[in-house]
Amino acid sequence: MSIDLGQERARAVRALEGLLGRIQEAERDLEQAQARLEGLIPMRVVWKKKTCGKDKCRCTRGALHGPYPYLVEHREGKKQEHYLGKGWSPPEGMIAPERFRVLMGEFRERRAQLDRLLDRLDQAIEVMRGW
Ligand SMILES: [Zn+2]
Repeated sequence: MSIDLGQERARAVRALEGLLGRIQEAERDLEQAQARLEGLIPMRVVWKKKTCGKDKCRCTRGALHGPYPYLVEHREGKKQEHYLGKGWSPPEGMIAPERFRVLMGEFRERRAQLDRLLDRLDQAIEVMRGW
């Protein structure tokens, strides 16, 4: 029985190592997509990580979602931030809209992928806590 449990744990640890490797890869991919998007926008962008408001989510344990891009503008001496997500499109002549759409789509996809992997890591940690 104890041997079986040992093997089970060894398998789980290997799976966890594999997952951590995929998370590192996903983080690199996301950073690259983030840099491409930032390189396209000729204005200052800030990136924020957030909680989602769900009770039992990993973000309540400090593993936040994101990052989410905000455009920083100064108008009449006031700092304003505009979320570069749904509904925002670049002002005419600033960026090729199609290029922005493609890079934003790619960035979102990669952020969602990292989010899924971090959820799986959180689930694995919860399981291991029960050991
Ligand atoms: Zn959350």
